[in-house]
Amino acid sequence: ASALDALRLDGAYAAALPELAVPWQAQPPTEPSLLALDEPLALELGLDPDALRSEAGLALLTGTALPDGATPVAMAYAGHQFGAYTPLLGDGRALLLGELRDRDGGIRDLHLKGSGRTPFARGGDGLAAVGPMLREHLVSTAMHALGIPTTRSLAVVGTGRHVARDEWLPGAVLARVASSHLRVGTVQLARSTGDVALLRRLVDHAIARHAPDAAAAERPALALLDHVVAVQARLVAQWMLVGFVHGVMNTDNTTLSGETIDYGPCAFMEAYDPATTFSSIDAQGRYRYGNQPGIAQWNLCRLAEALLPLIDDDQGRAIELATASIEAFAPQQRAAWVLGMRTKLGLAGERVDDEAVAALADDLVRLMTASRADLTGTMRSLGAAARGDAAPLRRHLASTDGWEAWTARWLALEPDAAAADAANPAYVPRNHLVEEAFAAATAGDLAPFERLLAVVRDPFVERPGLERYATRGPDEDFRAYTTYCG
Ligand code: AMP
Ligand code: MG
Ligand code: MG
Repeated sequence: ASALDALRLDGAYAAALPELAVPWQAQPPTEPSLLALDEPLALELGLDPDALRSEAGLALLTGTALPDGATPVAMAYAGHQFGAYTPLLGDGRALLLGELRDRDGGIRDLHLKGSGRTPFARGGDGLAAVGPMLREHLVSTAMHALGIPTTRSLAVVGTGRHVARDEWLPGAVLARVASSHLRVGTVQLARSTGDVALLRRLVDHAIARHAPDAAAAERPALALLDHVVAVQARLVAQWMLVGFVHGVMNTDNTTLSGETIDYGPCAFMEAYDPATTFSSIDAQGRYRYGNQPGIAQWNLCRLAEALLPLIDDDQGRAIELATASIEAFAPQQRAAWVLGMRTKLGLAGERVDDEAVAALADDLVRLMTASRADLTGTMRSLGAAARGDAAPLRRHLASTDGWEAWTARWLALEPDAAAADAANPAYVPRNHLVEEAFAAATAGDLAPFERLLAVVRDPFVERPGLERYATRGPDEDFRAYTTYCG
């Protein structure tokens, strides 16, 4: 008997929404090997890390031996990709294994990525390479450590199979955990069927999982929309605060939960510029850093449109109500960003009013932009400046006039240095170190990946000997960094 025997995987999504779920099986790996395991997450889920490392554990983590009663499915969804609607996407290389109860009684999806072709695979091979799966593990772990809502990676298991990309690469399966995998694109697909009862069932399911209070609202679908607007506004503000560029904000990659999902072409900005785009396929810069709030709102408009039949029988009235809900996004995002900047500036509390904080924050952004400053390094140097050592801050903002006046204005407000340190990470996944780690891992050496992972797991506590992890790469132009969807 294994410590995993007690695990139950429910099929609540599959049972409630059979039209949006295709029962399917994972492709067995030829030679599974554990490449990464998030032990604290395993414990949160009530799973024994040692059991997960065993043969039975790897079988669970690759979907090849599941608890009795589990009903793995490929989830169906639609989505706007780079602004163009694709009526049917779905899990082309992923499976929802089922829902489990975590240690606190919460419901979490256990999901695989890279587990073989499904009926939604279209031209794809259904597989994933080691590098991109380790990227998802690393960056989602870093995001969680930064306090940003995200899907999590429980484990990455090498399959022993090779996958064809530009070259042959070792394959891997990622075991992902999320508060759900419901997306704006899921609602778009339900709406597109014309089956209002299905749409209602999906909305009820989403409300039960993410916004239980909405069930008692006068207009539950509108209350759900309000909820998603609020969680997405907070999420995007948090991305902006740390310089995260998601890279592929399609509506199928926009969750109803407000968790970050799909770590394909993402990267952290290392030279402040609102035009920063890393993804090789984002030629127009649609998903550039500075465009993320606007795109999130655009995606929420697509959600609102899909929900209209449930908002009010009078569609004119429904449009009015949905529009008001969507219009709340920009002010909510801005307020969440200003609040975040207040904390990062060491000005938490009510001593300094919001307008003063917002003006300081906007001016600091202008200075960082003019210097093409490293966002992470600049913000981290605030703590030292508040302690009387402004040299690191000056170095980051060196090429701008005005830093002195800004610093004097800020210091006059008596910022709390320890609070600034606690809110400004010293370590984010640096692009050149991420690439270095994946190249080594692809060649069979996991040591650089494991070192980098250990650093970003604990981002706020500066440790000696880790200067390299706190500094941007040696490139002349940081915008030249390119990411691929993988
Ligand atoms: P993404 O851009 O990662 O959100 O993926 C968009 C769609 O392409 C989703 O339906 C994925 O399941 C599908 N997809 C991505 N890569 C593959 C692959 N290698 N094989 C099959 N489907 C894929
Ligand atoms: Mg995706
Ligand atoms: Mg992807």
